[in-house]
Parts: sequence; C-alpha cells; structure tokens
Amino acid sequence: MNHTQWLAGGAGELPVLPAARIAGRAVPAQDGTSRSAICSAATGATIGWQESAGTAQVDDAVRAARAAFGAWSAMAPAQRGAILRRVAELVEARSEVLAALQMHVSGKPRMEAGIDASDVAATFAWYADRCDEATAFRTEAIALPDDTVAAERFYDPVGVAALIVPWNFPMVTTAWKIAPALAAGCTVVLKPSELTSPTEHALVDLLAEAGVPDGVVNIVNGGAEVGAALTAHPLVDKISFTGSTAAGRHVMRAAAEDMKRVTLELGGKSALIVREDADVDLAVALAVGGAFTNAGQMCSATARILVHDSLYRKFMAAFETAVRALVVAPPATPRATMGPLISRAHRTRVEALVERGLEAGARVAFCGQVAEESGGGFFMAPVVVAEPAADNVLWTDEIFGPVACVKSFRTDEDAIGLANDTRYGLVATVVTANAERAQHYRRRLRAGLVWHNTPQLIFPHISWGGFGLSGIGRELGLAGLRSYQELRHAIAAAERQARGGFHRFLAAPPV
Ligand code: NAD
Repeated sequence: MNHTQWLAGGAGELPVLPAARIAGRAVPAQDGTSRSAICSAATGATIGWQESAGTAQVDDAVRAARAAFGAWSAMAPAQRGAILRRVAELVEARSEVLAALQMHVSGKPRMEAGIDASDVAATFAWYADRCDEATAFRTEAIALPDDTVAAERFYDPVGVAALIVPWNFPMVTTAWKIAPALAAGCTVVLKPSELTSPTEHALVDLLAEAGVPDGVVNIVNGGAEVGAALTAHPLVDKISFTGSTAAGRHVMRAAAEDMKRVTLELGGKSALIVREDADVDLAVALAVGGAFTNAGQMCSATARILVHDSLYRKFMAAFETAVRALVVAPPATPRATMGPLISRAHRTRVEALVERGLEAGARVAFCGQVAEESGGGFFMAPVVVAEPAADNVLWTDEIFGPVACVKSFRTDEDAIGLANDTRYGLVATVVTANAERAQHYRRRLRAGLVWHNTPQLIFPHISWGGFGLSGIGRELGLAGLRSYQELRHAIAAAERQARGGFHRFLAAPPV
C-alpha cells in the first residue's frame, strides 16, 4: 500500500485498496465494481476507496493460508520469533506514519494514535519472546503416579485462523490476534473493518517486509457478509472475533457447524467505583480517561461511574470542570484531547440511544462541547447523565460513544452489587486509598481485569477478555498464545516395560 497516497489528503486521484491480498498479491474486486468509501472521521470527506472481496476470493485466501501452513508451522519457533521481533522493530521505526494514518482515517488525537502504535510494537515483541521460550512449545514430560508409563504434553498450532476485527483500535486488535497466531505457527486470513482497513493494510505491509512468507497472512476486505463467508468456510480451524455481542452470536453459530475453535472479544458496560476515601482528582482523571478516551468507543469504557454518597457533590463538580475542558477537535488541532466518532451512521446511533434514555427519564447533568474547528467531522460532545434508573438504556446498554452515567452508593456491598448487575463483565476500576478494601473489590468484581487507582493500563503479559456477554476466551498473555494451539497428550510404556513385554494398563478395561 502506498502510504503517501493515503496521507496526501485528497490531492490527485483517491487511493483504492484491493479487494484482497492473497499469498502476497493484491487481488482486485471480482466484478470490478464492488467498493465502499473510506471516510476521514475528522472531516467527513472521502479519502479513498476499498474494494470488497467476493466468496471466491474468500475461498482463495483461506486456501492460500492452508497451503502456507505446512512450512510456517514446521519452522523452528525461534525463527518465527525472529520475524516477529523484526515486525516489532519496523512498527517502532514507522510509528509516526502508522499514527498519521490512524489520525487521517479515524481522527484520533495524536497522543491516542501514538499509544496504539506502541501497543502494537509491544505485542509483537512480547510474542517474539514467547517463541524463544522453549516452554511455550516444547513437549513436556508429565510426572505420573505410575512409573511404568511416561506421558508427554504437546502444543500444536490449531491451523488456519480467521481473524475478524472492528474499527475502534484497528491495528491494536489486529496485533493482539496476528502476533500470537503467528507465534503459535498458525496462518491467517484477516477481515478488517470496512471503515478502517488502510491501517490494517499498512500493518500487513510491515509483516511482509519483516519476512513473513507469502500466504501466511492474507486479507479479505468487506463488511459483515465477507466476515460471514469467512466464518462459514470449512477449511478455517479457528475464529478469533472482536466486535459487538450481536455479531459475536452469529460468529459462534457459524463456528458450530465445523466445531471451529472460537475466541470472542465482545462488548462491555464496565464500572468505575469511587470509594469515600478516594483521591477526588485521581478519581476524576480515571473517570475522564475511562469514559472518553477514543470518544468512548472502547469495549472497556467505564461508562457506569459509582460514587460514594459522601463524595458525590465534590466529585461531580470536579468531573464537570474536567469534561468541559476536553477539546473535542480534529487531530490537526494540537490541543485536541477527544476525537470524533467513527462514522455519521455510528453518531446517529449513539445520539438515538441518548434520546431514548432521556425519553425514559434519564437526566443530563452536564455536557462538554465540540470545538469550532470540528467542520464536517463526526464529532459529538461528551454527555454525563446523573442517577439514571437501573433499567434505563443508558445504564444497561453499551453505548460505544462519549456518554457516561453516574450513580451514588452508600456501602461497599451496594457498589459491588451495582457494578456486577450487568450481563457483561469485561473490566472494572476501583479508586480507594484503602488497600484492604481494594483487595475485597478485586476479589468480588465480576470482570476479566480490575484496575485499582490506575488508568486502563494494558500489557501483553496480562490476558484480556471478559465474563458473560463480554465474550469467550482470552487474548494476550500466555492464554492468548494457547488459544491458537491444540493441546495433545501421549502416554507410552516406560522403556523398561516396553522391553519387558506386557504392560498392566493394557489389561485395564477401555474407558
Ligand atoms: P461489529 O460487530 O459490527 O463488527 C466487527 C467486525 O465484524 C467487523 O469487521 C464487521 O465487518 C464484522 N462482522 C459483522 N457482522 C459479522 C458476521 N455476522 N459475521 C462475521 N463478521 C461480522 O462491531 P463494530 O461496530 O465494528 O465494533 C464495535 C464493537 O466491538 C463494540 O461492541 C465493542 O465493544 C466491540 N469491541 C470489543 C473489544 C474487546 O476486546 N472485547 C475490543 C474492541 C471492540
């Protein structure tokens, strides 16, 4: 992909992404016409086009991944690790261009776009290290209470993995999947979001430059129907999907037919709890970051803020000052701290949900504002709702936009009860000066990751994923690697038994 052409910003002919990249080749749309516009979220302008793959191209991409699987999975893990390390170095070296592309397409403020690029590099580097770590792959001997037999454990790559990602952190969610998949020895077909695919193509360029062989990583462009064709393909062994809970259900149904392995990273409606002993400045900083980073378009948005009665007024006053100080503007504005929503359609959806919540009785406590220079971008002012009813849509549903609700509580039990009263369970944050109470919350909150007095820190070492409607399985960490491996065991007669002839387990009835 030609980055310069994408970053030129409308000068000359607009760039077009091919429908697919299969075994290192750019493949045009089957019928030559099927394409969708890529818009800049910050200006609303069309900045390029993406062609869509047809079912034949999905099939070709899966077959290319299947053909490349033998050699890639047979490669020594350390050799795969060396390639992944090179990817990390290239991402680091090109982080400026990758960040610029994210700002151009998604309208993210510079700081957020920069964090995404570092996260991608860190993920590839961490999985490169796992490839060096013999324990991640080697056959392990298992101690048994019977010395007449010996057992071993093996980790085999699961095969061809279909990776389907959303638009909110396009490069990051992709890296969380591609890095462990390649480390494990899998080959992949990636289906990026139709709204942000230039970033994924740029990343895959770097993979090729780092020495990932042709066919190991393939891309098919398009929307839900292309994702559905991929999930239904019989030669796909594993699906790793990040997106909405609604689409996750379709993916899981499609996977059932061939018993494909699935990892689902879905939605959330997470809580941030401010205890009576919290430092209010810290609580406000964590609330602003948790609810309005990426304009609230985060699966981990802590959009249900629970504040102890005794601090409520003080917290709300400081929170209002902080929210009003957010600069909702295009990334070209150096002081921008919050970007736009991803598309006009998504903004309409978020605004409709706010309308529904207000009609059902929710009350807006205060709003931020959109800066004058926002032009035709898909910006929306942050909204804070006070004390919504427990069944109000703004309290119960994932909004995926800059909308936060605040409720007060009296006791720790109330706070834990309110936080856990959701069908999701991705993350939670607790703000308290009391280490013992924090421990109590960490144990009781039903969420995949609990932060105490910290922003939403994410490390490749720590697995990511949630309870309930937030999904199935975990990404990142060793669990992320294992999710691309099949576990296999073998039990054999110990050597002296084998020489000695008959083995006693052979006499046991089959189970
Ligand atoms: P989405 O579910 O509409 O789409 C996600 C991806 O799936 C896109 O590439 C889309 O084209 C594809 N897709 C849609 N329907 C499909 C189907 N039936 N079969 C196969 N593929 C299909 O979600 P979105 O609007 O792009 O992203 C927002 C959602 O993603 C939010 O719900 C958010 O919480 C979730 N998300 C979760 C995490 C996490 O780690 N848990 C991270 C980021 C985003």
